[in-house]
Amino acid sequence: MIKMDPYLQVDAGTMSPYEHGEVFVTDDGAETDLDMGHYERFTDESLHWDNNITTGKLYWNIITKERRWDFLGQTVQVIPHVTNEIKNRIRNIAEKADICIIEIGGTVWDIEAAPFLEAIRQIKEDIWRENTLYMHVAPLLYLKVSGEVKTKPIQHSIRDLRSVGIHADIVICRTEVEMSDDIKDKISRLGGIERNCVIQAIDARSIYEVPLLFEEQNLNEILQKKLHLKVRKAKLKDWASRVEKVINPKKEITIWIAGKYAEFQDAYMSLMESILHAGANNSVKVNLNWIQSDDLEKEGFEKTLDKMKKEGKLDGVIIPGGFGSRWVNGKINVIQYIRENNIPFLGICLWLQSAVIEFARNVCNLEKADSTEFNKVTPHPVVDFIPDQRDVTEKWGTMRLGAYDAILEKWSLAHKLYKNTTISERHRHRYEVNPKYHDILRENWLTISGLSPDGRLVEFVELKDHKYFIATQAHPEFKSRLDKPHPLFDGLVKAILK
Ligand code: GLN
Repeated sequence: MIKMDPYLQVDAGTMSPYEHGEVFVTDDGAETDLDMGHYERFTDESLHWDNNITTGKLYWNIITKERRWDFLGQTVQVIPHVTNEIKNRIRNIAEKADICIIEIGGTVWDIEAAPFLEAIRQIKEDIWRENTLYMHVAPLLYLKVSGEVKTKPIQHSIRDLRSVGIHADIVICRTEVEMSDDIKDKISRLGGIERNCVIQAIDARSIYEVPLLFEEQNLNEILQKKLHLKVRKAKLKDWASRVEKVINPKKEITIWIAGKYAEFQDAYMSLMESILHAGANNSVKVNLNWIQSDDLEKEGFEKTLDKMKKEGKLDGVIIPGGFGSRWVNGKINVIQYIRENNIPFLGICLWLQSAVIEFARNVCNLEKADSTEFNKVTPHPVVDFIPDQRDVTEKWGTMRLGAYDAILEKWSLAHKLYKNTTISERHRHRYEVNPKYHDILRENWLTISGLSPDGRLVEFVELKDHKYFIATQAHPEFKSRLDKPHPLFDGLVKAILK
């Protein structure tokens, strides 16, 4: 699986979630486009840094080579140097796989996309002529007022693609309405596409229904035949029954997502998918209450939370990670409320840190306890930047990024949920619970239920005698799948239903 993003960034790590949605993190610590998350969820393959090709990465490499005199004085150009770089990267990945799926982001005439289109054109010409196929995704225009369907945009984009030397084998038509046979005939005739290769991608009730809708149109068989593979039927029975649970849930619950980007939900893509997976696993619809954490300050946080509880909008709370020092004391108040009111809670990354600060202040009586991310001169840096713990390399800056193991305490909630002692989760953060405070926290009955294998970094904390109070330093949302719901999210839903 390869995602090509023609933008100039080296990776998505520096992009604002407002502009580009969530930054997805892979096992090897690549910060990528959120599409990579969808690919992992649908293929259940763990992707890597190399699976995401951006213009920034290509040029970085080419310019480094040029400075090293690798091109021996040649003029360095888009064709062949950039296109060769793209082809080499594709080849490196494809040679390790049975089938390689490549998506080029953007649209046909994007200036930045040109070298990518040229590279995949050449791939068919000079590498895999017999078993390369092009699938073109294009929108069908539906005019609501007159109820008319227009095929022109699709015809034009098929033609545009042909003008850069790529003849689409299959066209996937994104559509709001059911496509008639006449419309399909027209696209087939005018676009020069085989009739059964005009595939409808109608708005689905759930994204997870899409493979089922494609299967009804034999897309799987068409693809296998065109790629000269042995035709095998897709095994979609379990998948279909989970989709059924997504579409027709038996119950509803509401979880409060206390996040900073509440009005821009793409920033929480994996989180929302993980909640949906856990809901489907328990046949419930999980409604998301997006009241922004800052809004609590307006009417007073306690009053607002009491009201939310009364209205049934606070069955549980998930608080996603974040950066920066905004609203620190508000965070502490929220955690205290959750802790004292026995509200099921799953804290992620920054919220493990916040839970530790709250506990240190209110239970351990370390009044000014804080994270040095928020207060550099706190007398009790219970959360701190601990550079000697890391392999700080130029590539990854100072962040702990990617998959790290954690060892879980046998008797803990974490262990009960994961059903394992050694687990691995993906990280994306700089700060850690300060090892100097582990003992004090423990003495006051905070359960540190997971640690790094060397015992120095806190990975999980939880509270006994609480309905469900668990926080993780990692980002569990990156590893949940519809057919493998993540235990921490599943546990939260189950605790609410209890
Ligand atoms: N800001 C915190 C840190 O860097 C948490 C980051 C996060 O939640 N991903 O450690």
